[in-house]
Amino acid sequence: IVAARIIDGKALAQQVRERLAVESAAVLAKTGVKPGLATILVGDDPASHVYVKNKQKACELAGIYVDDHKLPASTSQAELLALIEKKNADPKIHGILVQLPLPKHIESRVVLEAVSPNKDADGFHPYNFGRLVEGNPVFEACTPKGVIKMIESAGVAIEGKRAVVVGRSNIVGKPLALMLLQRNATVTICHSKTKDLAAVCREADLLLVAIGKAKFVTADMVREGAVVIDVGTNKGPDGKLCGDVDFEPVSQKAGWISPVPGGVGPMTIAMLLDNTVESAKRMAGMK
Ligand code: NDP
Repeated sequence: IVAARIIDGKALAQQVRERLAVESAAVLAKTGVKPGLATILVGDDPASHVYVKNKQKACELAGIYVDDHKLPASTSQAELLALIEKKNADPKIHGILVQLPLPKHIESRVVLEAVSPNKDADGFHPYNFGRLVEGNPVFEACTPKGVIKMIESAGVAIEGKRAVVVGRSNIVGKPLALMLLQRNATVTICHSKTKDLAAVCREADLLLVAIGKAKFVTADMVREGAVVIDVGTNKGPDGKLCGDVDFEPVSQKAGWISPVPGGVGPMTIAMLLDNTVESAKRMAGMK
């Protein structure tokens, strides 16, 4: 048995950051302004603070200006909307990130729709989601965009392949299925009500898993030689971070597989930066 080749998201993210550093410098040279990302964090959820810090660090490495806003949990929805309005109008800002989850008294949907679709670096605005459905995307959601880049980096063609996406959330499964469709895969979307999930998964040339259940996908669910991308981030029985795929046995059967950690996670952050730089280039008439 030949073990699967690894799709190294960490190394790929590093390459993306290096490319973006060059592009950011070009934007600065042309416009006198660096690409800029406003990060907005409300409340004191410790995990959210870590995520935002990692995103900010990655921005700095890629020559992106970070405009940091940390607001207390008591911030009202109106105050948050006023800040977003200000950032929508700020010429130094090309992307706006509102870290989720927001405190319960704030309606996430209203907030995400208040972000200008032209600065929607996370790709969560219904306008951008609609553009993706049309097959004519502008800002694409970061996690699925990163998954596509990972498949492409392996030199695997998407066109004509049988793709099975497990999970149908608005931030991962659904947009990922649409991105695969746009690239001419034949796409099946599975969810918690899917009957005989294992049989459907076994049909996949490309198996993309985003459900949030530790080691759920076992080797018997995977076709020999399939490309397996694991989006899940779970705490395993040993307390360590693990994916939705049972990595060791599945890697004996798959052709390509992405690990957790070091797979989709770093690429998600890299795509946030990519969206910000792309936005700055669009605004500068450079693309
Ligand atoms: P959600 O909880 O929003 O969605 C989970 C999806 O999985 C739902 O569509 C659900 O089905 C489906 N599902 C749950 N259990 C099963 C099952 N037993 N069989 C088949 N389908 C099932 O999760 P997200 O999409 O937000 O995230 C998924 C995972 O990816 C999580 O582990 C999350 O932490 C991780 N993640 C990682 C990111 C990264 O950067 N690495 C970024 C975003 C997410 P139904 O709709 O029927 O309920």
